[in-house]
Amino acid sequence: ARKGKTPEEVVKKYLQKVKSPPEEDCTICMEPLGGPSGYKGPGVTPVSRAESVGRLAQCGHQYHFQCLVAMYNNGNKDGSLQCPTCKTIYGVKTGNQPAGKMEYHVIPHSLPGHPDCKSIRIIYNIPPGLQGPEHPNPGKPFTARGFPRHCYLPDSEKGRKVLKLLLVAWDRRLIFSIGTSSTTGESDTVIWNEVHHKTEFGSNLTGHGFPDPGHLNNVLEELRAQGITEDDGLM
Ligand code: NAD
Ligand code: ZN
Ligand code: ZN
Repeated sequence: ARKGKTPEEVVKKYLQKVKSPPEEDCTICMEPLGGPSGYKGPGVTPVSRAESVGRLAQCGHQYHFQCLVAMYNNGNKDGSLQCPTCKTIYGVKTGNQPAGKMEYHVIPHSLPGHPDCKSIRIIYNIPPGLQGPEHPNPGKPFTARGFPRHCYLPDSEKGRKVLKLLLVAWDRRLIFSIGTSSTTGESDTVIWNEVHHKTEFGSNLTGHGFPDPGHLNNVLEELRAQGITEDDGLM
């Protein structure tokens, strides 16, 4: 929907004007907010003095306008902006998860620690492919190891709530990313993004299994950090 907006217009939308910049450094470029942006990259158009510093409307953190535009241009330019200090999200954050499929069903077995309910199995399938402009090495192939990946949630009220939010995260391309696997060291491969999943069913040999009493709350917190809150599950 925001495809027509320039990066400057997107950034401006989330900013309030600052009459006199504080005597602090911009934490993007480390130069004083009272002076010009330290960012001198291509595609940055000069702005008038009055517009050189902006305050993010919700969290209040202040940056050089040009530094925010440069940060936006380095991301996937989806119309959203995340404060680099406090991680407040402006707009709807999306990721760069490659194309694939997410399915789920209920299985008639209980997970360790959840004896009173059945379980939900999520199946993620992502085939290998070519990286797009939103990926670390556009045009280069990426691998996809261990797919289909099977993940488990208790089929409880809270487990179903987490599932709903994971479906939102999938649509926003936030479950997986492309990068270097911290487990295998392989680069240009599909990796989990910042939302933890349980991939072991009846045991916990990998540390990615049950029981784990904090798991559902941790996942809700990780989803929140991606801008997905319980309101998103109401659709
Ligand atoms: P990674 O190693 O870069 O780690 C990213 C995040 O995923 C970290 O938070 C990590 O704690 C978590 N993670 C690591 N291994 C996990 C696992 N087995 N289950 C759930 N979460 C895990 O991420 P990655 O490279 O995507 O995954 C690590 C390895 O696990 C890969 O080699 C992958 O092939 C393998 N894997 C295999 C299967 C399978 O069914 N065969 C399923 C899941 C993961
Ligand atoms: Zn700056
Ligand atoms: Zn902030």
